Amino acid sequence: SPIPDFLDETLDRFRPDRSGENADYIPDLAAADPEKLAICISTLDGVEYTSGDADHEFSIQSMSKPFIYGLALEQEGLAGVLEKVGVEPSGEKFNELSLDKKSGRPLNPMINAGAMTIHSLLGDPGAGLAERTEIVRAGLSRFAGRELSIDEEVANGEWREAYRNVAIANMLRSYDIFYDDPDEVVRGYIEQCAITVTVKDLAIMAATLAGGGHNPLTGEQVLSPRVNRQVLAVMMTCGMYDAAGDWMTEIGIPAKSGVSGGVFGVMPGQVGIATFSPRLDRHGTSVRGAKIFQDLSDRLSLHIMDAP
Ligand code: GLU
Repeated sequence: SPIPDFLDETLDRFRPDRSGENADYIPDLAAADPEKLAICISTLDGVEYTSGDADHEFSIQSMSKPFIYGLALEQEGLAGVLEKVGVEPSGEKFNELSLDKKSGRPLNPMINAGAMTIHSLLGDPGAGLAERTEIVRAGLSRFAGRELSIDEEVANGEWREAYRNVAIANMLRSYDIFYDDPDEVVRGYIEQCAITVTVKDLAIMAATLAGGGHNPLTGEQVLSPRVNRQVLAVMMTCGMYDAAGDWMTEIGIPAKSGVSGGVFGVMPGQVGIATFSPRLDRHGTSVRGAKIFQDLSDRLSLHIMDAP
């Protein structure tokens, strides 16, 4: 059938590209097979088209951030979350030690300072590490439509070198952005990043956002339409860190990348798209993933600002 052939042909064209490097600060990511390459596109009724290593598992990393933001918005309400974390693009690297000078809040939920603050909001006040980790695992599973698990080896490897994230969490604690134990927040955030997915899972998660919060596999309304819109709008403006403007103008598909090499994109009302390829550019985005998104955007006219 034409769609799988189209996807096979697309991957074949980008397979020879060996530019970029695996992330090096988490041992499991440094050791990942850099040749792996996969794509999955899911329709809003959950029909999945795949090519390449579509069953290969990898850690979700920063791609967890939009979903956790959605869960926190459902729990705390829009105003409650906005009090803690803003919605302005930072133009900074993902692990910048930064707070908004005027409001004293993290700039947005897609950089680590914001993501860890969002993580700390989950559960009852004072919820411990175990409870929050389970809320995150169960919550992400609702987007994927199957029970996801945590790769503890990935988490342990990141935890051993987590000086930067520990510094960010201590900064947040010192400014009373949260009152939890900073080490517990970092550890929980690292567990969140170590949740294991495939491009098929990511495509369903993306299709859930594309469908206004409705999971096409389970039929569950995971996010209300208003919260879903908030998540996508923030993802569109802040999802690609210091390359958000480039990505939006050139590719024009709201997307989120992670240092494991995954990228997912959301075409509202149409499809969820996910790619995997471990070698990263200097922004921390998959090289072949970005090129494939560019190619799909050009050839299928997926830029959301293109008139239909
Ligand atoms: N675990 C990573 C970190 O916070 C996630 C970064 C990413 O995927 O961009 O350092």
